[in-house]
Amino acid sequence: MNSKIKGSCLCGRVKFTLVKDFKAFHLCHCKQCRKITGSAHASNLFTAPENIEWSAGKALLQTFDHPDNNFRKVFCRECGSGLPYESRRIPMLIVPAGSLDDEPETEPMDHIFWHEKAKWYESVSDKVTFDGFPA
Ligand SMILES: [Zn+2]
Ligand SMILES: [Zn+2]
Repeated sequence: MNSKIKGSCLCGRVKFTLVKDFKAFHLCHCKQCRKITGSAHASNLFTAPENIEWSAGKALLQTFDHPDNNFRKVFCRECGSGLPYESRRIPMLIVPAGSLDDEPETEPMDHIFWHEKAKWYESVSDKVTFDGFPA
């Protein structure tokens, strides 16, 4: 039997539990993922749709379906955090890795839609790191 992993949004009103059985982990640099995350890429884990159990706040889930393609995003109506959703393209549940409360214990497999990446992202790996804001 697979173990479970918990997740939640930033405001804490939405909570869920997943069976820890991830089939894929992609970092998506497509233009849509960059826009909707406001960042360099989405970090998405993939699992079977039946592996999720919502434990709180399901009524706060808001779905955005792009009018021109299969792109979808589900987020907390209160705080805007990205949350798991069923893909419109494939029979999979897509789980934003940042929504998990613990480590998924699996590593990203690849960068996808690499040709759509932000140019500045190419320079990130050699940057200095801080444990908080720089002094
Ligand atoms: Zn929230
Ligand atoms: Zn994408």
